[in-house]
Amino acid sequence: MSTAALAAKAPDYVRRISPYVGGKPIEEVARELGLAPERIVKLASNENPRGPSPKALSAVASAAADLTRYPDGNAYALKAALSRRLAVAPEQIVFGNGSNDVLELVTHAFLRGGDEAVYSQHAFAVYPLATQARGATGVAVRARDFGHDLPAMLAAITPRTRVVFVANPNNPTGTWIEPERLQAFIASVPAEVLVVLDEAYNEYLEPSQQAEATRWIARHPNLIVTRSFSKAYGLAALRIGYGVMDAAVADMLNRVRQPFNVNALAQAAALAALDDVAYVEESRRLNREGLAQLASGFARLRLRALPSSGNFVLVEVGDAVRVYGALLREGVIVRPVANYELPQWLRVTVGLPEENERFLAALERALAA
Ligand SMILES: *Cc1c(COP(=O)(O)O)cnc(C)c1O
Repeated sequence: MSTAALAAKAPDYVRRISPYVGGKPIEEVARELGLAPERIVKLASNENPRGPSPKALSAVASAAADLTRYPDGNAYALKAALSRRLAVAPEQIVFGNGSNDVLELVTHAFLRGGDEAVYSQHAFAVYPLATQARGATGVAVRARDFGHDLPAMLAAITPRTRVVFVANPNNPTGTWIEPERLQAFIASVPAEVLVVLDEAYNEYLEPSQQAEATRWIARHPNLIVTRSFSKAYGLAALRIGYGVMDAAVADMLNRVRQPFNVNALAQAAALAALDDVAYVEESRRLNREGLAQLASGFARLRLRALPSSGNFVLVEVGDAVRVYGALLREGVIVRPVANYELPQWLRVTVGLPEENERFLAALERALAA
């Protein structure tokens, strides 16, 4: 049997998936363009340009002393710390190999062929992927002003809908929904439909903007709130995130979860990072300044950019493929978003001040060429 014929034996819903394309790694750009890695600026994956808290780094070093034992599959210490922080029971928390894993666990536990999942146009690419991987049907609802059209999403719910995904703030658009509107939406979703509220960028919001969504779960047991250690906490390489949900929903996710899905280094780092509140605050402050720096750069270049509540911004550059390529050749990696139905735009992660400056200067040259 030829390998093509072998691949054809995969279910057609798997063969129809277009694989996720991430930000281009620094090493790959260095290899392909013959540039020195240390000269390359990566503003493509919404990572924290400051890196992780030094406390997280030293926790990793200590944990690295024992790589022989399996990690705690129940993440006891981290779960206890987080449950205190969020005032939820430990049984309500499910850790994942990145919050991406938690999104997968939701679809694994709750979707089968014929079911539907609702999400917004321009919303995070993992929602359609995780839905399709279960043979379920994704229903993308047309965006409104680049953000979630909540009334239209509500109207898209049918008796077949099992899950609704909402990203707040949304990636890649940076749009944000006020807590009051979000809560009213959740209250309107039928009780038998799960709402996954993806708060991967929650820590970048000003404290006054942060919804206390995990507290809504008591009243809305169909709500799952997911968060990540990859973005503001700067631990993307370790892969750790979590979901907070009703204990009965967590029980279902745990049945399909790999017993050791979160490694020991990630657990140790996350525990230390959680404690370093000042580090996150400083990251938020630096991000706010970086957003302002980029906004004034775009204004100077007469480019339209969307107001962003995350650590990234969408900017309209016209021929995005060409501009992306020109930036790459200067050693600046950003993210094309044609796969999000935004072919004229690029997504740029907020970097350190000098990285933002390098990007803006390269962008100016790219647009003039
Ligand atoms: C980055 C991101 C995630 C996933 O992050 P993990 O690294 O898997 O924790 C989830 N949702 C959104 C909207 C993101 O941008």
